[in-house]
Amino acid sequence: FAPWTDPNAKPYIQFDKVTKKFGDFTAVNNLSLTIFEREFFALLGASGCGKSTLLRMLAGFEEPTAGRILLDGQDLRGIPPYRRPVNMMFQSYALFPHMTVENNIAFGLKQDGMPKPEIAARVAEMLKLVKLEQFAKRKPHQLSGGQRQRVALARSVAKRPKVLLLDEPLGALDKKLREETQFELMDMQQTLGLTFVVVTHDQEEAMTMADRIAILEKGEVMQVATPAEVYEAPSSRFVAGFVGNVNMFEGKIARGESGAASIDAGNGITIRTENAGNAAPGASVTFAIRPEKIKVSSKKPAETVNAIEGEVYDIAYLGDMTVYHVKLDDGQVVRASTMNASRVTEDPLNWSDRAWVSFRPDAGVVLTR
Ligand code: ATP
Repeated sequence: FAPWTDPNAKPYIQFDKVTKKFGDFTAVNNLSLTIFEREFFALLGASGCGKSTLLRMLAGFEEPTAGRILLDGQDLRGIPPYRRPVNMMFQSYALFPHMTVENNIAFGLKQDGMPKPEIAARVAEMLKLVKLEQFAKRKPHQLSGGQRQRVALARSVAKRPKVLLLDEPLGALDKKLREETQFELMDMQQTLGLTFVVVTHDQEEAMTMADRIAILEKGEVMQVATPAEVYEAPSSRFVAGFVGNVNMFEGKIARGESGAASIDAGNGITIRTENAGNAAPGASVTFAIRPEKIKVSSKKPAETVNAIEGEVYDIAYLGDMTVYHVKLDDGQVVRASTMNASRVTEDPLNWSDRAWVSFRPDAGVVLTR
């Protein structure tokens, strides 16, 4: 499933040069974005970047100040929320506390005047979907947080919308339940064959669930890509720093040809990279490299390219991996991580040891913005 790689794939949801102003304040700035049918799409960004505003405009709770939003080719302007084939899933505390689970799920269907037998069949189908058949007669306060969340989900898909919008859907759950529910949401999206658009500020959540992620900042899209692309090939310093941990070296391209270059990072540090793209000699660049691409060792590596000496500053054993902070002689602290694939009994490195960090010329990316 990768319609975004197909130049002939039909766009499903299109934000076309959308701007949203609140008074003088621009919450969304001339933003264009395409989402495909059946995609699990995440809008990721820090608080205030405009992600909820985008979702609310798609739902019809707000209208754009300028630009168009199209769904399956149809301009949504002026269409009220209840006439759009779009539904918003609210957090579980929006359930009706005095109603049973089945009545909560049936509520929207009754309002639409659906015949009773059909409602009963649809509610049964939804209860099965979220595996809550035995809980039909309970009230929300008699359920766990995760179960309440599943009722909220069942209620929001009962009317069979084509697009489900989720605004920080798992914000109220603890970490473990959050992770479980992320996988449940993915399964459910597959089963229902719907397009999901989720808003989150949690990069791990976006990486786990989404087919593609749009990273937003100040009402603009910084990058749209798959989780792997966002992590491995961030398009800017902002994205590299926002998603995951990263080490950044500022420098100038010393010499380079067809993607391979030397970067002079100052203090006698020269970085050899094969990922310089078409950055020209003399250009100021940032070299960004993920912690797991960096090796730490107490001995000078045989391969002296990209080997930098420093001192072990911190060691954190995290179970699945160990994280090292190494202070280079110029004062910059590098983060390196090692997977603990086999049992770690004793770490050969100690705090304050001299150590070498090293990485391969094909690891890391060169950023020019
Ligand atoms: P959060 O994660 O905190 O909800 P967000 O990225 O979803 O953040 P939005 O809710 O889209 O951000 O808001 C974007 C900006 O627009 C914020 O600075 C917010 O204060 C402003 N804003 C949103 N709605 C209104 C409104 N009705 N009137 C005035 N300003 C608003």
